[in-house]
Amino acid sequence: MTDFISLIRDVPDWPEPGIVFKDITPLLAHPEGLAWAVDRLYEPFVGHHIDQVVGIESRGFIFGTAVARALGAGFIPVRKPGKLPRATLRRDYTLEYGSDAVEMHSDAVRPGDRVLLVDDVLATGGTMAASCELVNDAGGELIGCAVLIRLSALDGVERVPVAVHTVLDA
Ligand code: AMP
Repeated sequence: MTDFISLIRDVPDWPEPGIVFKDITPLLAHPEGLAWAVDRLYEPFVGHHIDQVVGIESRGFIFGTAVARALGAGFIPVRKPGKLPRATLRRDYTLEYGSDAVEMHSDAVRPGDRVLLVDDVLATGGTMAASCELVNDAGGELIGCAVLIRLSALDGVERVPVAVHTVLDA
């Protein structure tokens, strides 16, 4: 079997000094690697009656859509501010230096929807936690989060208000 983990490349000091960026594009380009990653992400949620998968911009769109298709769910994008064309819900969150925000269309998650959130990397957990708040604000039910890679040194899961399923710990 191909070592799929080696298809995730560490890029030191990108996009800024001190950050080791996890480049998943070689994994995406590998047909079996892509299938492996998507299958590992969605399998724990088979039978959990997921209505909507929320994917976080931008690599969460790639995996989130595939996971939604596999689970027979819909897909909803969470985006950086100013990208969605209609009325949105917004949540601000703190970064190590400064702050950021995420938005979701106000009518995307319906009250009572069972929601799974998907992203490629969980680092500080701020983006995922704010995205969970958006789902709560819309009246959705948080069923879980699925991420390909968790940067375990950063304790991001502590910020997330629902169980985080992780394919790889880095
Ligand atoms: P955080 O809010 O700190 O958990 O950051 C998570 C978001 O930033 C995700 O959408 C990731 O795609 C991206 N991200 C953070 N750190 C990295 C990293 N080292 N490599 C790749 N993406 C990252």
